[in-house]
Formats: sequence, C-alpha cells, structure tokens
Amino acid sequence: MATKRYLFTPGPTPVPPEVLAAVGAPVVHHRAPEFLPVYERVLDRLREVCRTESDVLLFGASGTGAFESAVANLVSPGERHLVVSAGSFGDRWVAMTTAFGADVDVLRYAWGETPDPDDLRARLGEREAKAVWFVQSETSTGVVSNVPALAAAAKESGALVVVDAVSSLGAVPCETDAWGLDVVVSGSQKALMSPPGLGLVAVSETALSATGSSPRFYFDWERTRKAQQTLDAPVTLPVSLVSGLDVALDLLLEEGLEAAFDRHTRLGRAARAGVKALGLELFSPDEDRSAVVTAVRAPAGVDSGDVIRGVRDRFGITIANGQGELKGKIFRLGHIGWFDVFDITTQIGAVELVLADLGADVERGVAVTAALEGFSAEPSRT
Ligand SMILES: *Cc1c(COP(=O)(O)O)cnc(C)c1O
Repeated sequence: MATKRYLFTPGPTPVPPEVLAAVGAPVVHHRAPEFLPVYERVLDRLREVCRTESDVLLFGASGTGAFESAVANLVSPGERHLVVSAGSFGDRWVAMTTAFGADVDVLRYAWGETPDPDDLRARLGEREAKAVWFVQSETSTGVVSNVPALAAAAKESGALVVVDAVSSLGAVPCETDAWGLDVVVSGSQKALMSPPGLGLVAVSETALSATGSSPRFYFDWERTRKAQQTLDAPVTLPVSLVSGLDVALDLLLEEGLEAAFDRHTRLGRAARAGVKALGLELFSPDEDRSAVVTAVRAPAGVDSGDVIRGVRDRFGITIANGQGELKGKIFRLGHIGWFDVFDITTQIGAVELVLADLGADVERGVAVTAALEGFSAEPSRT
C-alpha cells in the first residue's frame, strides 16, 4: 500500500476533502459574475470569524505577507513602536518593524514565557508607542497569550493594538471588536483549514486613519479596501484558494465558533494528557488556553529531530521540530483546524513507538487511553 501521509504540523494543517474539491474546480475569472458571490461571502464570513464589523482585507500572501501589510501601512521611519516577543514569531515582528525603520522597543521574554500585561503597562509608562504588536498564539512555544488583558494595557496608553492571530484565529477566541483590537492578522493554512496562500487582516477605522508614510502598493490597505467594497479585486486573486476558503469557512461556521473553540480546548487536553502519561515533560504551558500546539521536551539523551524523522519514516507522519534554539530539544504536536481526537492519539501512539525504539525511558501502553480521557473531560472556559 502507498504510504498514508499525516500532516500534523502547526501549519500548514490538514485540509478537508470538500475544501480540496473546491480548490480543484475549474479556474474562473476573478471578476466573473460567478466568482463575485464567493468573494463577497468569504469577506463576510471572515468578518464573522474575526468577530468584527470592520473590513477584513484579503491578500494573496502568506501570514507574514498579511503582517507586512500592517507594518507597511502603520509604520513610518523613526516612529516609536513596541513589540512583545516571547518566541520566533515575536522576533520576526521585531525584525520586520525594524526593517521599516521604526524605533522599536522590545518587551522581550524567554521563549516559552507568557507575556504579562503589567509588564506591558509598565513599559508603556516609560516610553509611549504608536502601536503595540504582539502574538496571540506563539506557535514556536505553544503559549497562547491573554489578548484582552494585553490589549487593555496597550489601550490605556492610547497605542494601537496589532495582533498576530495567524495560528489562533478559529481555534481560540479572538474578539476583534469587543477587545478593541485595531488590527488582527491571520492566514488560510492554520485553523481556517485551507491550503497556504491567503493572508487576511482585519483593520479598524482607527487603524485606517493612522496610516504612515512607508512605501507600499500591493499591500496598501486603502486601495484594497476600496476595491473590496465593490468586489472589484485590486489584482488577480488566487480564485481557487478563495473558493476553497469559502467552503472551509462554511464548515467552521456550521460547526460554530464556540464549538470549534471547545474542540480545540479538548484537543489540547488530550495532547497534554497523552504526553504526561508517556512520562514526558511539556514545554508549552499545562493549561486550557494552550489549545493550539503542544510543545514537548525530548527525553534526556534524545534529539527531537530523531523523533520527527522516526515518525516520518516509519509512519508517514509529519510533526514539527523546535525553532531557533529549541531545535533538537522539543517537538511540537499540532492540533489546529481540521483535527479530531484520533489525530491526537495517532501522534501520541507514533511518538511512543519511536521513543521506545530510540531506547528512551517512556511509559508504554497508557498514553493513548490518557489522551482519549483528556478529550472527554468537560472543558472549563478560560
Ligand atoms: C504560521 C505563523 C506565522 C507565519 O505565517 P506564514 O503563512 O508562514 O507567513 C506567523 N505567526 C504565527 C503565530 C504563525 O503560527
């Protein structure tokens, strides 16, 4: 039999067959009458998923591209900005705002720490910033930050709030309007259950009126917004991906956002219960909020790269290594988007077998049961 492949990375994520079927349909013109209702529906549904009345701008781009639209529109050279970083993606936004000439203050944490709103408040008291930039789900560590508390601290100082919700939108609550988030950035290939290639950004009126002087054209918010208002796409859209996203958003809203959040909470519980039953140490926090990716320390004497190669070569399973300094030290189990409990038990079972092969001291025969039980426990809302 041909090897069955399992994509369990925290992005890209598995794509449901209905979505793939839509992506594979004949290409239509991006201004053709049959495409316009699809475009309109996707833009409406994205507002629903972002929980905002503001426009959500859609770009043919990765999540990083959509984030660059925020930097290109909001940052002017020499301006003061504050970036919160506790991992790889936070560091990326430090580099990007710096590249655009901002005078960047970094509220920096060790990778794996959870940003503290009081630290942010104190830092903004020392030095104001036009905007505060932070990550909701730091996919490199598994930490999900307390977005409403961080946003409240930023807003007290009058700063704009920009949130990287690339791996979290659709997996954990992101209340754009209720939490006063000015900009929320995401992408198609994580909890939105679609192939990579679409970036999106929800932009408040306040943010639209605060745009700066950096050069931009493709990523210009105003130009894109005007075009979207009449469904007159500003460039050739990746129509196949938009058609796929339309189906994926329908699946997500059919399940219901709250139900999807509960499912992710349970998936996180299942992954953590399984990992602990194996006798391994969690790197990501052992808390319900950590519902997007579970990061696990490789046992003593084992390189996490060997675990990743082992599950790939023996079982066709792709899981993720650590990034940066964590490479070789942790492995990351994704549970973002189109995942059910058996995707967790498959990962846990495979890791158990490979670790046993590598001679690691793991508890045998209990982890899958623990994961199933973890999934069944009633999640508490956090
Ligand atoms: C995946 C991810 C990104 C980057 O998205 P790309 O589509 O790879 O550009 C940014 N931030 C977070 C938190 C992510 O998980």
